Amino acid sequence: MNAASSSNSLAERLVAGPRRALASPPCPATRPMPRHAPAIGGFTPFSTADWPGTLSAVVFIAGCPWRCHYCHNPALQTRGADYDWRDVQRFLATRRGLLDGVVFSGGEPLSEPRLYEMVDTARALDFRIGLHTAGIYPARLAALLPALDWVGLDIKADAAGYDAITGRRNSAGPAVQSLAHLLASGCDAECRITWHPDWLDEPRLLALATELSGRGVHRFAVQNARTDATRAAPARLSTPMQHALRALFPSFECR
Ligand code: SF4
Repeated sequence: MNAASSSNSLAERLVAGPRRALASPPCPATRPMPRHAPAIGGFTPFSTADWPGTLSAVVFIAGCPWRCHYCHNPALQTRGADYDWRDVQRFLATRRGLLDGVVFSGGEPLSEPRLYEMVDTARALDFRIGLHTAGIYPARLAALLPALDWVGLDIKADAAGYDAITGRRNSAGPAVQSLAHLLASGCDAECRITWHPDWLDEPRLLALATELSGRGVHRFAVQNARTDATRAAPARLSTPMQHALRALFPSFECR
């Protein structure tokens, strides 16, 4: 991370930075897309929440083979291109030095065949690259890891609970393989779980976290499940369990 620059807000950077024309954030495209256009289903011009400590643009890839019952982006489960990658590139080219990174999120970004090319393009514009993934495509993740600076890997449950969350059979296997690739790569990463006691009770969560800690996960976050992002979570991790999890990881967050 560019620690010096990330300590400045976007507004401060705009004031301090060189005077230049800034392309507007891309809007959903109205013209026909090129054949095999990347399936970009959403775009956020800047975010501090999607990659902790990094001011980033976020490209949302539309397409995901899983059907998690709590998915907050069901519109991004189906493949389809709403934004033109050429517009996104034009925007990014005028944000060099103003943003630190580009996060590819989804949906499942590794479902996009042109993701490697998109990452290369963003890297060539001097952005650091973050990836959100549920670990659905371990071989694709392994191939992309050398080009990544940070990964947010969703852990859905313990192995026994995966399929009930994802709506797909044998879904724990690829996620476990993806975690192995991620840990072997040494890439900066956070593992996080969206949690509710009806899906995974606290003793099972503790067993899962102990296993992750033993495998070498350094950053772990529990995201209390919300039915609506604007409302408080209906159930929160207990304080004793927060203490127990905090003791397992160098970095732990309950949010
Ligand atoms: S893996 Fe992510 S995008 Fe896919 S269904 Fe689950 S929550 Fe939604």
